[in-house]
Amino acid sequence: MTDPAGPAETDWAAAVAAVRGVPGDGRVLLICHVNPDGDALGSMLGFGLGLRRIGVGRVQATFPGPPEVPETLRGLPGEELLVPATDADPRPDLVVCFDAASESRLGELVDRLGTAATSVVLDHHASNTRFGAVNLVDPRAAATSVLVDGLLTRLGVPLDAAIAECLYVALSTDTGSFRFEATTPEVHRFAARLLATGIRPGDISRRIFDTRPFGAVRLFGEVAGRARLEPDAAGGRGLVWTWATLDDLARYGQRPYVLEALIDSVRCTAEADVSCVVKQTGAGEWAVSLRSKGAVDVSRVAVALGGGGHRFAAGFTGRGSADQVVDAIRRELDGALLDVTGG
Ligand code: 5GP
Ligand code: MN
Repeated sequence: MTDPAGPAETDWAAAVAAVRGVPGDGRVLLICHVNPDGDALGSMLGFGLGLRRIGVGRVQATFPGPPEVPETLRGLPGEELLVPATDADPRPDLVVCFDAASESRLGELVDRLGTAATSVVLDHHASNTRFGAVNLVDPRAAATSVLVDGLLTRLGVPLDAAIAECLYVALSTDTGSFRFEATTPEVHRFAARLLATGIRPGDISRRIFDTRPFGAVRLFGEVAGRARLEPDAAGGRGLVWTWATLDDLARYGQRPYVLEALIDSVRCTAEADVSCVVKQTGAGEWAVSLRSKGAVDVSRVAVALGGGGHRFAAGFTGRGSADQVVDAIRRELDGALLDVTGG
């Protein structure tokens, strides 16, 4: 398991050596997890720009599945590094993975861990399986971009506005715009360094948090309108949940990724510690988002059901009907109660 103290200096040195070891005309492949969020994409592109600044090889950035970037994350600096997974270098000199707790999050790109000359993993999930040759994993880090910053600094890459914008998107995504518990003084000091490059936090936040198509606004209204509240679930801490089907998306002309923000409209429910959104991805297949306000470790629920994540934000792939998926969650919830009295 991961060292709770985060990477040792020897790990950082090994990661620097892996990057420095790429030949002048060498090829670097950057991979982030399937259905990339702001931390995955921002960390990856920020690092890619950093490699370019110091003239490291040819850099490609990619992620498994359809090469579709959510609208809210389009236009990030470094976007030109992105290639579809089908075009990703089959045998790079170096592969670097971002924000993925396990190999299963790399989909069809997982073989690159074997074909690449070496690999570096940057992540902040406590459940990280350390699947790289070098692993920079710190569960105390608020975002994977904190580890990217650590590595870029050690590589001597100066922070510029383009890199900073990517890392700011990553940091503000994973801290819920600096609202979550992980928002430490270090997080604000990091954000201060990023802002000092001249990036515009108002524009960035509006784009990534406060913009969605009108069809999505109406879809969210319908889906939130059928949410169920179960006060007795999770040992009386309460569960609120809803679901969205592919048919719902089609009726409002929306793409699946717009539903990623849906959990935020549901988890504000005062009467429930745990919130859940079950999003259809195929026939009998659902992407499940779980959130907790602190009484329940939802990563335990997600891991028990084949997924992963953090204590208060986790997910998994559910099978069957939406009701069957929620039944399975209800069964796991009681076992995931935290001793809140013990602090
Ligand atoms: P979200 O609900 O925003 O999709 O995901 C919340 C967190 O749960 C993510 O940071 C990610 O770590 C984790 N997560 C979500 N879906 C899965 C999954 O299918 N497998 C694993 N291992 N982790 C997931
Ligand atoms: Mn993350």
